[in-house]
Amino acid sequence: MQTIPMNVDENFRRLRDRVETAARRAGHAVRLLAVSKTQPAAAVAALAALGQTAFGENYVQEALAKRAELAALLGRPDALEWHAIGPLQSNKARDVARNFAWLHSLDRAKLVAPLARHRPAASGPLQVLVQVNIDDETSKAGCTPGEIAELAEAIAAAPALSLRGLMTIPAPADLDRRRAAFRRMRELFEGLRANHPQADTLSMGMSDDFELAIAEGATLVRVGSALFGPRKP
Ligand SMILES: *Cc1c(COP(=O)(O)O)cnc(C)c1O
Repeated sequence: MQTIPMNVDENFRRLRDRVETAARRAGHAVRLLAVSKTQPAAAVAALAALGQTAFGENYVQEALAKRAELAALLGRPDALEWHAIGPLQSNKARDVARNFAWLHSLDRAKLVAPLARHRPAASGPLQVLVQVNIDDETSKAGCTPGEIAELAEAIAAAPALSLRGLMTIPAPADLDRRRAAFRRMRELFEGLRANHPQADTLSMGMSDDFELAIAEGATLVRVGSALFGPRKP
């Protein structure tokens, strides 16, 4: 029996207020992506009932199993917007192209062709963000800042894909260093927009630092534990 984490409703209302306050202060609109990895389908249903529409998942298999459960709970396919946010292996490109509305983690050119080839025409273009490894961490997914332009060209040239912007996960550092990383991302985003004015999304900021990210220009924040409580390992 799956249980919904405690206080999801209250967490959601509080979080939505904090995001809205930060967005008002920053002077631009911000979307909230609810990161539902490791959380049960019932928790997604509870948030959907409160009006949350965009959900993020890291693992394709987990996401598909959850969506099947959700469809059974609802008695129909869910009408939610699903975002793939985890590192993408080539052999999962097909599943992502078929089952998600957005991909936040495109970080190499060789993913472009399989994503485009497997995107069903009826689904419309896959909305794509380029993931940037802004702190140059060896263990982390993401391209270098110098690789953004070429990746952006490749995405923009594929009709089955739509280039929407950039995503990053800064190194876990003190807030000053994170702020500096968010700032560099904002500059890279402005640079991207000079050539691709349709790019309107800067995905950065998580439970710990989304207000800081919004102040530095995030237009979409990805929040998990502040909504659902700590993840079980
Ligand atoms: C898990 C995850 C999040 C959410 O992290 P929290 O700290 O729980 O808010 C955001 N983005 C990505 C890419 C993640 O993997």
